[in-house]
This record gives sequence, C-alpha cells and structure tokens, in this order.
Amino acid sequence: MTDRYAVFGNPIAHSKSPRIHAAFAAQTGQNLTYETRLAPLDGFAEAVRAFREAGGRGANVTVPFKEQAYAMADRLSERAQSAGAVNTLTFDATGVHGDNTDGVGLVNDLAGNLGLELAGKRILLMGAGGAARGVVLPLLEKAPSELFIVNRTAAKARELVAPAPRRRGAGATLAAGGYADISGQFDLVINATAASLAGDLPPLPAGLFAEGALAYDMMYGRDTPFLAFARGEGARCADGLGMLVEQAAAAFFLWRGVQPATAPVIAMLRGYP
Ligand code: NDP
Repeated sequence: MTDRYAVFGNPIAHSKSPRIHAAFAAQTGQNLTYETRLAPLDGFAEAVRAFREAGGRGANVTVPFKEQAYAMADRLSERAQSAGAVNTLTFDATGVHGDNTDGVGLVNDLAGNLGLELAGKRILLMGAGGAARGVVLPLLEKAPSELFIVNRTAAKARELVAPAPRRRGAGATLAAGGYADISGQFDLVINATAASLAGDLPPLPAGLFAEGALAYDMMYGRDTPFLAFARGEGARCADGLGMLVEQAAAAFFLWRGVQPATAPVIAMLRGYP
C-alpha cells in the first residue's frame, strides 16, 4: 500500500517539497505519495486531523503554521521544544509526534554541502522569528566560539538567549542585541529574517565579514540585497536551497528510516528552478 504524506501551508502552491520527496522516494525505492495541502488560516489543525484520518502517515508544515503544529502535537522532540515550532509531524497509533528539522537542515548544508567547519567560529544570526529559533540549538551544538543573535526588535533576540538553550557548545558565547550592537568580524553571517522577501537589507555595518567568511541567506530562488551586499564586501555567498533539501531529507529519515542522497536533488532543483 502507498503511504501518504503532505506539506501544509498558506500559500503552498509554490512549494518545492513534493518534487524533493518524489525524488527521494524514487532514489530509495520507497512507496509513497507527497502532496501540497492548502490549509485555511483558521483551520490548520482540522485540516491535519482530516488528512490523518484519511490515512496520512506524516506531514511537513510551513508558513504560517509552524507554531500551531507545535501546539497540536502530542509529543515533541527536544529540538522542536527548543525552537518552539514544528515543521515535521509523524502520525502513529500513539498520536502526533512533532519535530523540527530546519536547524539540522541548515547545519548539514553548511557542514556537508558547503564544507564549513563551525567549531571555534564567530557566527552572526540575523532574525528572531521561527526560522532563527529553529537553528540556535543545532548551531550551538557545533561549538562555535560565539553566536550573536541580532534582530530589528532587539528585545525578541534577547529573549532567545535567556534562558540559554540547553546543551550548548562548550565555551560558546551566546549574546544578542540590535543592529547597532554588532561589533567585530564574523566567519559566518546567516540571514534568517524575512527582509529578503520584501527586497530589504537589514542595516549591517561595512567590514562585517572576516577573511574567507560565508554569507548565508535562508531565502532561495533569487538574488537578495543581503547576498549582493555580502558579495560586494568580498564574502562567499550561499542561498537556502540546500537547507530546504536537507531539512526535507531529515524529515524523510524520520518517516522512512532511510537517508536519501541530497546532492543530486539540490542539483536537480538548481537546474530546473
Ligand atoms: P518570521 O516572520 O517568523 O520572522 C521574521 C523575522 O524577520 C523577524 O525577526 C523580523 O524582525 C525580521 N524582519 C522582517 N522584516 C525585516 C526587515 N525589513 N529588516 C530586518 N528584519 C526584518 O519568519 P521566519 O522566521 O519563518 O522566516 C524567515 C526567512 O527564512 C524567510 O525568508 C523564509 O522564507 C526563510 N526560511 C527558509 C527555510 C529554508 O529551508 N531555506 C526554512 C525556514 C525559513 P522583527 O522581530 O523585528 O519583526
């Protein structure tokens, strides 16, 4: 029997997740279908329940429902608890299990696909929304020397570091503030804000990037003001397509117990946007 999965969001028609999971399934010989589901803004939990009752085995969750998925789960992984958001639901006889694979997706893209060593590095994370919250713990687990979280609303960034997330990397300094508080140079600067969606550039100082630094924009599919700025400052640039595929691979592993190869799928998506 074919197992059914879906991604819930609003809007959702643009989602690349069905192509990614179809490619994973073909590659690993798994018998499954994966579809998009447009959930009403006021009817997410009901839409997920209906899918589960119709035989669904699991679901991904995207904007704007990750907090609602967190609230509806019967059990939560540690990384979902740390993020306060869920992007992967698994249904079984014991209930709905909520997890968050966004952070491991980012770290796997950085370390695996982009060859970046995070240990001992100085990292600047821009943003304090769902995407930023999801990556704080996985980044700290890689033992950077410092993780500085900066946000337009500085108080929201400060909330993320107090209390400090559990199991943080040994010796990592964790601090937060507003853009005016940025000082010194960073080896990795991650844009986890929605500024790129609006074509905006957060107010970053010149001289921000250390020698050989990487600028990473979680947004994908187009050049962004942040990546253009970083390129002008001499930094190496990457978009969030690898993170998207890696978080999908981590969800696929949770559901199927099989680890798909991500490189051919990233290449496929870059070739056929
Ligand atoms: P949220 O709406 O939860 O958070 C938005 C964040 O962006 C807030 O910190 C907000 O600051 C900040 N922000 C918004 N506009 C501006 C601006 N003009 N200048 C500076 N800061 C701004 O969004 P998410 O966290 O869910 O998503 C953020 C981005 O990450 C999106 O572009 C999304 O597409 C991408 N993403 C990519 C993934 C991938 O797999 N590649 C996975 C998940 C997300 P304030 O608090 O002050 O309002």
